[in-house]
Amino acid sequence: MHIEKIELKNFKSFSRKTEIPFVKGFNVISGPNGSGKSNIIDAILFCLGLSSSTKVLRAEKLTDLISLNSNGKEAEVSITFRSENEGENGKVEVKRRIKVTESGYYSYYYINSKPCSLADVKKFLEKAGVYEDTPNVIMQGDVTRIVEMSPYQRRKVIDDIAGISEFDEKKEKALQE
Ligand code: ATP
Ligand code: MG
Repeated sequence: MHIEKIELKNFKSFSRKTEIPFVKGFNVISGPNGSGKSNIIDAILFCLGLSSSTKVLRAEKLTDLISLNSNGKEAEVSITFRSENEGENGKVEVKRRIKVTESGYYSYYYINSKPCSLADVKKFLEKAGVYEDTPNVIMQGDVTRIVEMSPYQRRKVIDDIAGISEFDEKKEKALQE
């Protein structure tokens, strides 16, 4: 399965409806500083609910994700996935919308235009091998951070990825009992 296209409406710097096509395999997005490359990654994390906090999306609050060059009331990101072996039926569209009203802001998820919960989106992603808390996305600065870490901190990252930390924590707990 791969991402076939991303559609942004009023998300961050994308005040006009923007469609970004992706091919199967390796894709590169290039452009000058500040042109919105990282905002596309933020859009993916936002849409799929993969960001535990708005800090990850480089925003103070969720409503900061709405383009400043719009009416500031709503933003929407949809991602179309294509599954290779299912032909035309192999398309799934995940969409997330935020809407500001007088009583606050609301966030909605949809799968193939049907309203659903974040848990449903996660279930769909797990089928494709995308789990929360796994390093599916390496953010700008992450590599530098790893390079500059102490060997002990770096070992901790590797243990986390390999799933060893979980056992270390269990061992620690058992020793305390
Ligand atoms: P770099 O090469 O420096 O990493 P980039 O292409 O990754 O740049 P982004 O960080 O994606 O750039 O885009 C930053 C731009 O997005 C800034 O100009 C910022 O003003 C704009 N931006 C962020 N949030 C909003 C918003 N809510 N409305 C309008 N513009 C926004
Ligand atoms: Mg960037």
